[in-house]
Amino acid sequence: SYRKGGYHAVRVGDLFNGGRYIAQRKLGWGQFSIVWLAYDTRTSHPNDVVAVYGNDSQSYVALKIQKSAAQFAQAALHEIEVLSAVADGDPSNEKCVIRLIDHFKHAGPNGQHLCMVLEFLGDSLLRLIKYSRYKGLELNKVREICKYILTGLDYLHRELGIIHTDLKPENILLVSTIDPSKDPIRSGLTPILERPEGSINGGSTSTMTIVEKKLKRRAKRAVANISIRRASMGGIELPKPERCLDGIDMRCKVVDFGNACRANKQFAEEIQTRQYRAPEVILRAGYSFSVDMWSFACTAFELATGDMLFAPKSGQGFCEDEDHLALMMELIGKMPRKIAIGGAQSKDYFDRHGDLKRIRRLKFWSLDRLLVDKYRLSETDACEFAEFLVPLLDFTPEKRPTAQQCLQHPWLSLRNSTRDETKNKSNVEKVDVGMSKLEIKVGK
Ligand code: ADP
Ligand code: MG
Repeated sequence: SYRKGGYHAVRVGDLFNGGRYIAQRKLGWGQFSIVWLAYDTRTSHPNDVVAVYGNDSQSYVALKIQKSAAQFAQAALHEIEVLSAVADGDPSNEKCVIRLIDHFKHAGPNGQHLCMVLEFLGDSLLRLIKYSRYKGLELNKVREICKYILTGLDYLHRELGIIHTDLKPENILLVSTIDPSKDPIRSGLTPILERPEGSINGGSTSTMTIVEKKLKRRAKRAVANISIRRASMGGIELPKPERCLDGIDMRCKVVDFGNACRANKQFAEEIQTRQYRAPEVILRAGYSFSVDMWSFACTAFELATGDMLFAPKSGQGFCEDEDHLALMMELIGKMPRKIAIGGAQSKDYFDRHGDLKRIRRLKFWSLDRLLVDKYRLSETDACEFAEFLVPLLDFTPEKRPTAQQCLQHPWLSLRNSTRDETKNKSNVEKVDVGMSKLEIKVGK
């Protein structure tokens, strides 16, 4: 993908935006972009206003470099527009949404790349789930995380009129709360200012221009101005997931606004990642803010159990969409007929009575029973958690609580004792109860 129209090849020490940012190391990549950790020389300059930066570790930013082809540039412009609105409405950066710091164009051998400078965050919740070995997190931690996600959603929905449309564990990143003055790795940060010698991987510039050399010298001076003395550790260490699992603060932020849209200006019919997709999207019945609330419920379940709430598969005689609808009904109950037959796609899956055409026998399994029988939550924990989640999984989108209403829910203020949590999470394995739903469907 490192070709014309594609990714921009970055090397450690490369300069961006007139020398303000220095590439440190690759953080990740998506379909449209590569993301690098970069050192922001501007924030370490004593005369500069550093309004958006809380502490010194914030001299590091995530540099998202979009592929250069026209359609990717278009998508980046849209993302920048949304992120700018998000930043403008939240000057104190407290609404649990990723912060855009800067954006610019960067010319490379593969074309012009739009670049977004974002605040540097830690691991995604998906990494956190993986780290729990797919057993899920303690309910107290789930509650904390839910509060942050809901704060972000409430801000997007109510204040900005924006639907995220791709909420899932991968798109929620932890905020690093490690105190740089106490943490030996973090306090030893030394930014890389030069391309390491003998670096041979092909980059955009093989020889430094005079301007570049000047910029590097300036960057070096800026860094020398930082009053804190740091031991040389050769680069920045990312927060380790185990720290986050043990820590008390699970602060996180909603990221990835590449697919976000205004409620009154929708452009895609098919939105959301499959497993987090709301029923009205599958049925093509129109959508609004409440699609994010559906995905939120799926995400909260996954955090607590380590499993996706719905993982549809196609099978003999039915497609993925039909299996998905069947799984939803097995958990929530039959879809109201009006909803079932109300979408542009309804005729493909439902008969006129509102029954699925090709999957006739459903195995109903309520959420609270599922949480007890399969995930071994205590009866109390399961009931309380289900009471929080079930209203969000209403087939009628208008009936789903808003993020604002959810924030008032008593479940968020509950607190389990650590002893109960240990009993529920560490010593007991998930159990498989009965036949899988898929076997039952195929065998009908
Ligand atoms: P795309 O829109 O191309 O899918 P993403 O915004 O999802 O790109 O970013 C790709 C990857 O880069 C993410 O999965 C994550 O690993 C990393 N990343 C993105 N933004 C940040 C950030 N602010 N801080 C740290 N890592 C990030
Ligand atoms: Mg992405």
